[in-house]
Amino acid sequence: MKEETFVNKVLQGKGVSSGIAIGKVYLLERGRIHVEKYSVREDQIEREVAKFQNAIKSAVKEMSSIKDAILDDDVRRHAFIIDAHMLMLQDQYFLKEVVDTIKAKKANAEWALDIVVSKFSSSFEKVEDPYLRERGRDLDYVYQRLLRIMVNKEAPGIYDKSVRGKGIIVAHDLSPADTIQINLDRTSGFVTDVGGRTSHTSIVARALEIPAVVGLGNITAIVKDNDTVIIDGDEGKVIVNPTRDVQKEYLVRQTRLNAQRKEFLRLGKLKAETQDGFKVRVAANIELLAEMDIVERYGAEGVGLYRTEYIYLSSKTLPTEMDHYHIYRKLAENRAVKYTTIRTLDIGGDKFASSIEVAKEINPAMGLRAIRLCIKEIELFKAQLRGILRASAHGPLKILFPMISGMEEVKKAKAVLRECMAELEQERVPFDEHIRIGIMVEVPSTCMITDLLAGEVDFFSIGTNDLIQYALAIDRVNEYVSYLYEPLHPAVLRMIKKTVEDAHAHNIEVAICGEMAGEPLYVPILLGLELDELSMNAYSIPRVKKIIRGLRHSYCKSLVTEILAKDSPKESELLVRKEMVRLFPDDFEHIAGE
Ligand code: PEP
Ligand code: MG
Repeated sequence: MKEETFVNKVLQGKGVSSGIAIGKVYLLERGRIHVEKYSVREDQIEREVAKFQNAIKSAVKEMSSIKDAILDDDVRRHAFIIDAHMLMLQDQYFLKEVVDTIKAKKANAEWALDIVVSKFSSSFEKVEDPYLRERGRDLDYVYQRLLRIMVNKEAPGIYDKSVRGKGIIVAHDLSPADTIQINLDRTSGFVTDVGGRTSHTSIVARALEIPAVVGLGNITAIVKDNDTVIIDGDEGKVIVNPTRDVQKEYLVRQTRLNAQRKEFLRLGKLKAETQDGFKVRVAANIELLAEMDIVERYGAEGVGLYRTEYIYLSSKTLPTEMDHYHIYRKLAENRAVKYTTIRTLDIGGDKFASSIEVAKEINPAMGLRAIRLCIKEIELFKAQLRGILRASAHGPLKILFPMISGMEEVKKAKAVLRECMAELEQERVPFDEHIRIGIMVEVPSTCMITDLLAGEVDFFSIGTNDLIQYALAIDRVNEYVSYLYEPLHPAVLRMIKKTVEDAHAHNIEVAICGEMAGEPLYVPILLGLELDELSMNAYSIPRVKKIIRGLRHSYCKSLVTEILAKDSPKESELLVRKEMVRLFPDDFEHIAGE
């Protein structure tokens, strides 16, 4: 197959990092290691245990030299991924499992490792949450490295071959250790057979702003070294050996996109204020500390939502109070943003962590999740709250409770928080006594009593992802009903309106942090509804700011009045689209498709 040269062959994958790259293929070929499985005699067991333990030591050594050799400052900031792999390699539970398996099954070290890793991986595969599922891949990288060491096979480094000029790395998969060795002077993009948006490779590509397309199936079987490829990180397309005309077309698009990115970075720094002086705070949603670079670059004023689930998901054991503290302290001390809103654990539903036991539920979206679980598992909740409080002594943090469905939960959560404060006070540990406390408004029952709840908390944050799911009775991960997912449904708009009015009547602020907040089309509606903060994926910030700066608040208010009078979400959507095309012809023409 490799002998064939494809011309203009278009492959479709997932675009995970925006931009266009054109360059020569640099093919990173690494087969998986075949695992030899055999039984060993009683007197050979110690030899196998030693083989495994030495492999662990060598792997840790390799990882730390990879980390030490990082050339680029931007890349160095992502070295925490290597630390995470080193932690996996030193995880006592994992080490013991492999040694016990060698002994119990009289298995050679490679086989025992394979048994243990397969067991762990199958629990990752069952996870619905794509981010979590990807963490299983981290385990696989560690596994492959250990196997390589045990069978004495050299892993080709990513720049072992000579590439002419800047190349495009094409690989079956790239491990975080590979990504971390990326030399930006020699690489203009990544392309892989497997992977998803939340794989570390994708996260690093986005942070470094290198175009990347993953999940292409079998591109490694299609291209050869020095083939030319075009990567379109927005459309998720890869074109193999494009003709001159196609190259020219993409060069033009690349120049336009580069100019646009510069313009976005400039826009990100500007104030979020309408032409008639209405100000709104534009903040970012994050899941990882590593995302703070992007948050800073794209101009977020604060972090409106830090989804802390990853802290639990990335570890086999429950994070301790001090684990929480160290992470949150970094955020508290980050002066690039004015504040960070830490949402307490929102696990359960479609997200689960191996360290937390949750019962199998028929309807997990409405089950024992988020605040319900925290209130039941008080010690788990307290470790996180005490970690947040400790960190709050170092800078501005806010606490946000998820999935609140009624007053009792708010009171209970606050009581646990007060208990933590009293304990810390006794222990003479400093914390911010005035830390602001908010609740997610994402369950319809909560919307109906925001007038009562507003007296209990310092702010609301509307989670439209869940609010729409619960209000319209559509499972947010079920593709068959996704057509019903309508942010402009009058029920949703009325709920947002009521929440804002009740909050403002009690002098508290309201943010919106669901996906709806980062959609430029909905900006005039959200401004007209007078939300105080829009919190979104950092990349959406410049576009949203551009729209805010181009609108008049008085216009947004009258548009909202008109939209609220409509009973059809489709008509509302059409009206807003038409208006946006009229007002921002450069930004909406292609979206409107009219
Ligand atoms: C939401 O529900 O809108 C939200 C922001 O939270 P999550 O997507 O994490 O449930
Ligand atoms: Mg939610």
